[in-house]
Amino acid sequence: MVAIERELMARDYLGFERVSSPAAERSVLEAVHPESHVDQIERLAAIGGARIDADTVVSAGSFKAAMHACGGAVSLVDRLLDGRASTGFSIHRPPGHHAEAERAMGFCLFNNIAVAARRALDAHGLERVMIVDWDVHHGNGTNDIFHAEPGVLFCSIHQSPLYPGTGPASDVGSGDGRGFTVNMPVPPGSGDREFRSLIDHVVVPLARTYRPQLLLISAGFDAHADDPLADCRVTDDGYAAMARSLRDAAAGIGAPVGAVLEGGYALDALARSVAATMAVLGGASIDGAVGVADVSGRALERLAEYWPGLA
Ligand SMILES: [Zn+2]
Repeated sequence: MVAIERELMARDYLGFERVSSPAAERSVLEAVHPESHVDQIERLAAIGGARIDADTVVSAGSFKAAMHACGGAVSLVDRLLDGRASTGFSIHRPPGHHAEAERAMGFCLFNNIAVAARRALDAHGLERVMIVDWDVHHGNGTNDIFHAEPGVLFCSIHQSPLYPGTGPASDVGSGDGRGFTVNMPVPPGSGDREFRSLIDHVVVPLARTYRPQLLLISAGFDAHADDPLADCRVTDDGYAAMARSLRDAAAGIGAPVGAVLEGGYALDALARSVAATMAVLGGASIDGAVGVADVSGRALERLAEYWPGLA
């Protein structure tokens, strides 16, 4: 967070207003996570911390940090939907997209973006929220939480094979939510061209068809070429280009765009990529130097059953 803070400060916060994040209210959190899960995290922090799994540790300060990370995402959504802002970025750790309703995992305690999306549906009365997850890992928690929910269209681009091993293209949701989960695994070595292709040829057409009233980005930056936890090759410019595509698509349908930080473990690359994404979301123009390789064919073929006329 210090690296991001330093980068943004050097750029005068790119014209964004800085807002401190309140802790999430229990009732808002518990629209996604059962009380027992929230209590468990609180209790583990209170006794000084404990290890939940190989990657996920609760320390004494974790509960408070997680409550504010979640509160940041929720307050971003509130601001976007009551018209105080047209875009914003909630920058906190711990991340959230691996957290399932009843299980913390993969560094994630509460699913910040899922709680924020649920807030948009419940408190603001939205009917359609789109979540685009470009973190290099599959957002299994978000995938699960909205699996049967057509009010949330969840689209994830992630490296496969890679932790947590979920998110095959064949997982398209369940029940009323069939077709509203769109998983786009990419092989190790994928970079700007592949990620952009899936954004431009699959995600943007889906947005134009679904017409979400709010577009949220699970913005992890660990598909970056410099990141030590994965093997993808996205660049700073690639993130900016993806952000531009989503920004323009959202503008075309009148939806505000909010980004919520997920992973990203190469600190310089993370800080630069966050700044590049924010600049674009804030309206900066970029040149179109990043190429697109069309890798969207199979994804579009699979979606034809649920989204006729998309291709
Ligand atoms: Zn990740």
